[in-house]
Amino acid sequence: MFNALVIDKQDEKQVVEIRQLDESALPEEEVVIAVDYSSINYKDGLAITGKGKIIRNFPMVPGIDLAGSVISSKHPCYQAGDQVVLTGWGVGENHWGGLAEKASLKAEWLVPKPEGLTGKQAMMVGTAGFTAMLCVMALESYGVTPDKGEILVTGASGGVGSVAVTLLKQLGYRVAAVTGRPENAELLTALGATRIVPRSELEGKGRPLDKQLWAGAIDTVGSQLLANVLSKIDYNGAVAACGLAGGFDLPTTVMPFILRNVALLGVDSVMCPYEKRKAAWQRLSELLPASYYAQACTEISLEQVTEYAEKITLGQVTGRTLVKL
Ligand code: NDP
Repeated sequence: MFNALVIDKQDEKQVVEIRQLDESALPEEEVVIAVDYSSINYKDGLAITGKGKIIRNFPMVPGIDLAGSVISSKHPCYQAGDQVVLTGWGVGENHWGGLAEKASLKAEWLVPKPEGLTGKQAMMVGTAGFTAMLCVMALESYGVTPDKGEILVTGASGGVGSVAVTLLKQLGYRVAAVTGRPENAELLTALGATRIVPRSELEGKGRPLDKQLWAGAIDTVGSQLLANVLSKIDYNGAVAACGLAGGFDLPTTVMPFILRNVALLGVDSVMCPYEKRKAAWQRLSELLPASYYAQACTEISLEQVTEYAEKITLGQVTGRTLVKL
């Protein structure tokens, strides 16, 4: 028997509870895993609270991330005892996920635990940190190097944002961190922000083109804030956009694109191909300093997950939230 957080529907209402399940309840897949750690991402928050239509098949075990060891495998790439990490692929959305002591998954969804990281550290990174790495790689691919100027990170005290600030600093960029929570300025500075930009400075309808302030940006917020950021990006700069914490619309104009050669680079972590995944994890394990793990993570139990799921949808979580199974 094992413990699992289960989302179910009763009388058309979503209920979330911890259930004791038998291994036979797990979906039939290639690799059965003893989960050591999972984490809470914004998408988990939307799924568990029911605020977003993330889950359509019930009952469902949420949790888009997990790290653990293989119990049994029908696939030649994995043997019992192997340490693995999973993010994305719709796990925790339409396939039972990581907020349970056991999971059963397709081999192709897994990556071997990156060298140099513990499973716990991998979950302190999780989907959010992995996405931050993909955003940095996207900026690099457009030629936005540290010598080009300052990089803006929006939603900086969140999971993606806090890792993005840390990674950029480690790579030698100057980082301006946008936050709506001034009380997080000290943490963001410790992680590597050279400057704090109050969120209010980027709210409200702005001009199609504004003063050029940043060589690039990593945006987790979307909506009007992203539109305002685009209007302030330098000639030949780029914005890596991965999130919608402020809304999924984008009320912009073509002006930054056609007059300043600005690129809007979309970043998705869920379906990221295996080789890129492995490369991103390897870079994360090399780049994140010990101080990141000490400063920017909170560990919780399965019993606390619903509370933190609510908090993350309200923008009240700072850094990454790790779940010990
Ligand atoms: P968090 O909740 O940890 O971080 C989001 C941050 O955005 C908050 O901490 C807050 O930072 C800021 N924020 C919250 N609400 C608003 C608002 N209304 N307006 C402006 N800023 C706001 O979430 P994650 O870091 O886990 O995820 C961030 C976003 O990225 C989400 O939209 C998520 O869905 C998306 N995402 C996308 C992925 C992909 O593959 N494309 C993968 C992972 C995440 P502060 O208080 O500092 O301002």
